[in-house]
Amino acid sequence: MKNEFCIYSKSCFIEGDFIEATLHIQDDKIHAIHTGYKVIHGIENLNYEHFSVIPGIIDAHVHINEPGRTYWEGFDSATKAAALGGTTTLIEMPLNANPVTTTVEAFNEKKSAAENKLHVNCGFYGGVVPTNMADIEELMVSGVFGIKGFLTHSGIDEFPNVQSDHLKAIAPLLRQHDLPLLLHCELADSNTPEVKNEFSYQEYLHSRPDRWELNAIKLALEIQEQFNIKLHIVHLATAEGLPVINERKKNTNLVTVETCPHYLFFNAEDIPDASPIYKCAPPIRDKKNNDRLWNAMLNSEFDFLGSDHSPAPPEIKQLDSGNYFKAWGGIAGLQFLLSALYTSGKNRGLSLKVLLPLLTSKPAKFLNLDHKKGALKEGYDADIAILDTEASFNVTEEIIAHRHKASPYLGQELFGKVIHTFVNGKQVVKNSQINSLNQGQLLLKKRT
Ligand SMILES: [Zn+2]
Repeated sequence: MKNEFCIYSKSCFIEGDFIEATLHIQDDKIHAIHTGYKVIHGIENLNYEHFSVIPGIIDAHVHINEPGRTYWEGFDSATKAAALGGTTTLIEMPLNANPVTTTVEAFNEKKSAAENKLHVNCGFYGGVVPTNMADIEELMVSGVFGIKGFLTHSGIDEFPNVQSDHLKAIAPLLRQHDLPLLLHCELADSNTPEVKNEFSYQEYLHSRPDRWELNAIKLALEIQEQFNIKLHIVHLATAEGLPVINERKKNTNLVTVETCPHYLFFNAEDIPDASPIYKCAPPIRDKKNNDRLWNAMLNSEFDFLGSDHSPAPPEIKQLDSGNYFKAWGGIAGLQFLLSALYTSGKNRGLSLKVLLPLLTSKPAKFLNLDHKKGALKEGYDADIAILDTEASFNVTEEIIAHRHKASPYLGQELFGKVIHTFVNGKQVVKNSQINSLNQGQLLLKKRT
């Protein structure tokens, strides 16, 4: 039987504006969009007149730990959480599964591990480490959406950081295959103060200063300019990085930068000691810095936003001991990407019209998926979220669908509740509950 139905709302996000429209879905595509209210006989007509109908969120920065560390997070739990949060497509990082995605063999293992567990669409990045120089080209052409590297210790020993010479060695290949280099920009130096209290957030913050990020960004931009490659700076936390990035952007459209909701939602001043649930790298900085990130966001200086969901079990997060320096650095927030940003944006004058492209059409463009995803358009994939902008909800353990409940969003009241989610034309979330499974597709980057 053909999958065919209509979605009507007074408020559909189409071509940058909210308008009254009826979306006619056929199979996995948006077959037609009619302005205004329209009933099509013989099929189901879903009336969401009081909700906003928006393109499914695209989260281009997610860590799922399967295979090898599935007890941290797996495809089943992560993609359910994504769907509940209105995310219909995510791109998975080459760490922290085991093996890490630095070879084609490991990439094949990851794809096998994801089989029958994808409740939203999922693509992958590959990784660069000092030991995969010889076979990274094979990985580049295997369907990954980009190559991720670190300039400082990644947190897991199987994914050692590279030096600038490694990046220079692979840059011609990145250029040839038109793939972005995604870089974790922190460059460690030894000028940081001696740590006296491992439970102090301020000491953790000062152990990874702005300067580390800025120095790494400068190095990355130099390599970008030398080889004219696509460079994406992941999870910018220091506002000091923005002027140099903006300066380079005047001369190239190959540089992109993202930030994450936790850098916008939380401030260092409010983070208690001995609470490594807030630990991530680079760290959440002070309010003055984060206000500058907000200004940059309102000023369209970020190319898109991603969750950087990087969960770990409570014992590895050191939730009992409270030791910031022993704890895993990573924030679990996949499910709350949209709602957390909408909530904090409400008080900052960030309208949904400005926020939504940063979570839909702009990441789609970065991923070269903008011919079929990231917008409500005729012929596009029917990846759609239905949002109640008036409703709020409390983040409780019961509603968190991540593998582990530990998240700094636990206990927060968030606005913007996702009511329904459609993935490839199938209703995966109904009334904020999982409704059908395995509707996600594995996405491979097309060779250019
Ligand atoms: Zn990350």
